Amino acid sequence: MPGKPRSKEKASSVRELLLPHIARVQAYASVRPPDILEEESGRERGAVKLDANENPYAPTARVREAIAAFPHLNIYPDPEQAHLRKALAEYAGLGPERIVAGAGSDELIDLLVRIFVGVGDVAVTATPTFGMYRFSTQVAGGRLVEVPRDPDDFSLDMHGLLQALQGGAAKIVLLASPNNPTGNTISRREVEALLETGRLVVVDEAYYEFSGESVASLVPHHDNLVVLRTFSKWAGLAGLRVGYGLFPQEVAATLCAVKPPYSVSTLAQAAAIVAVEDRQALLGTVRTLVHDREGLGKALAGLPGARVYPSRANFLLVRFPGRDVAALNRRLRERGIYVRYFTTPGLEDCLRISVGQPEDHRRLLVALREEVKP
Ligand SMILES: *Cc1c(COP(=O)(O)O)cnc(C)c1O
Repeated sequence: MPGKPRSKEKASSVRELLLPHIARVQAYASVRPPDILEEESGRERGAVKLDANENPYAPTARVREAIAAFPHLNIYPDPEQAHLRKALAEYAGLGPERIVAGAGSDELIDLLVRIFVGVGDVAVTATPTFGMYRFSTQVAGGRLVEVPRDPDDFSLDMHGLLQALQGGAAKIVLLASPNNPTGNTISRREVEALLETGRLVVVDEAYYEFSGESVASLVPHHDNLVVLRTFSKWAGLAGLRVGYGLFPQEVAATLCAVKPPYSVSTLAQAAAIVAVEDRQALLGTVRTLVHDREGLGKALAGLPGARVYPSRANFLLVRFPGRDVAALNRRLRERGIYVRYFTTPGLEDCLRISVGQPEDHRRLLVALREEVKP
């Protein structure tokens, strides 16, 4: 039992010293890197990795060259991220004083929850959604209130969300747009209605470059709106860990004061700056992925009984009603094909498939056509 050791007595194990809410945390179910997957499957051919919404194309030559030639590995990063924030300000169209970068947007989610949600406080989200909201809330000792989305099209239950935000313990609402894993966006009108509650509204735009839709322009007009973005998906830099947020100025200042000063490495800052400079080329890849998503969606919809949900991101959610999708997922893995399977209620018969390169899609479809028989 975790808790306070009785005074003067020696704690019988360090577990007793752990904070009770930390002792209860469930580890985040993350995806595993390809070399580990290949080791595990004994496959040499290369796994088809469509399980983490990564960009299947390497970052552009300019970005790779900047990384290869980077000279300052022995120097600590600029804790104020001055150059990166300036580049991001230009990219996002907001002042640098409203921008903070993190080690992935995951770090910013974690920091935001930590500065607003304490033990006994409530964070609100609309499920199914990204697992980090639950994880960070648990680590902070808060309670995540999950308001289910419409089971047919995954639209928000605005009435339910507004009600969940009314209680005094509710501090923050976290919503992804496009949402992972359902692919749909939320509207500006919905965001504005949530802002009316006065609670902190976090719109996670990790897939913004794929959807082209943003509420960033609202940030300067509200002291309770945060927009989060990342270089992991569109810019192909998931391994370097760099994301950023657009914040009310006060929240940006508080985050800077509490964040670990060197969490975004020199290399990550430099690569993100070059990615912003080389965005025309990177956005060309984004257009390719959006185009290929449509082709993949049509092919998947041709599988017997499959339902493909419309997506504004770089992945597709596919439902196989009445099928044992856990078993289907296992058979795909045996063939070296990795997609995302969820045990989340309501998604047990679904797979989330990231948009890959045409050859990935070809191998995936060959396998699915064999495994999903009428
Ligand atoms: C992938 C993803 C992120 C995480 O991005 P990082 O910058 O790699 O930490 C954040 N939010 C959503 C909704 C995502 O799908």
